[in-house]
Amino acid sequence: MAQLIDGKRISQQIKDELKAEVESLKNQGVRVCLAVIQVGSDPASTVYVNNKKKACAYIGIESEAYELPEEVSEEELLSLVERLNQTEHVNGILVQLPLPAHIDEDKVIKTICADKDVDGFHPQSVGRLWIGEKGFLSCTPAGIIQLLKRSGIELDGKECVIVGRSNIVGKPMAALLLRENATVTIAHSHTKNLKEITNRADVLIVAIGKRQFIGPEYVKEGAVVIDVGMHRDENNKLCGDVLFSEVEKKASAITPVPGGVGPMTIAMLMNNCVETVR
Ligand code: NAP
Repeated sequence: MAQLIDGKRISQQIKDELKAEVESLKNQGVRVCLAVIQVGSDPASTVYVNNKKKACAYIGIESEAYELPEEVSEEELLSLVERLNQTEHVNGILVQLPLPAHIDEDKVIKTICADKDVDGFHPQSVGRLWIGEKGFLSCTPAGIIQLLKRSGIELDGKECVIVGRSNIVGKPMAALLLRENATVTIAHSHTKNLKEITNRADVLIVAIGKRQFIGPEYVKEGAVVIDVGMHRDENNKLCGDVLFSEVEKKASAITPVPGGVGPMTIAMLMNNCVETVR
């Protein structure tokens, strides 16, 4: 049976470390404040935003919520972001995605001042990541690196295969694995012979967005499997991109869904908030 990589425990450990750091910063007169902007009232976005506010409160990071109506104009949203860029006590700015179709997400991301870009989506943050400069790391991939390291999984020289090439998961994941001296392959929907490629992986990271797509035939005996996907199964229970019940028999270590990658994303967002004052 595979080792279960416990994202709940590891994310709690990181949040407790950050809480102690924020307490000591407060004693030196340094405060950390995150501004969270939500447009509209999509229930999933509301849950994410509330979880972020809760994590801030736990760690001792101040949070300011800006709730804008669904029909807010792009211009109004951009002018709020610009105002927050200039607001000294706001260290980090997060715009909850997705935004309504009439607003250009790219434009909004690029308007956030790079020094306050705690999601790590600004082109400057992405560039820094690829050339190995210090900067904000995209939260989900950064969380996966922490999961692997804190579970004692060696990456140096390992064959890592990432399935999915999105800007928020697959691509930054590749950059972070390269930093760890892994040999990295990125597969996507045009990849030929996907099974052959994934079967080479010592560490297989799956971010496809397709429910239980990766079965045991895609996995090498003894591989480490990280499942980024998040879905509901036919019984309305949370599940991932990996067919956990079958793959866990073949893997040496695996993340569950829920309780694997999910909790790490918020922990790493909190880390980026603290990074603004380090
Ligand atoms: P995305 O933007 O939809 O990207 C999916 C990627 O998978 C694309 O690169 C796509 O290839 C590739 N793909 C799709 N079908 C494929 C196939 N049959 N074979 C090989 N590659 C295939 O998704 P995302 O934003 O990266 O998210 C992926 C999943 O992770 C989703 O379930 C999402 O909900 C979840 N997620 C979870 C967290 C978390 O915190 N737990 C964070 C982010 C995302 P092309 O580029 O060729 O289209």
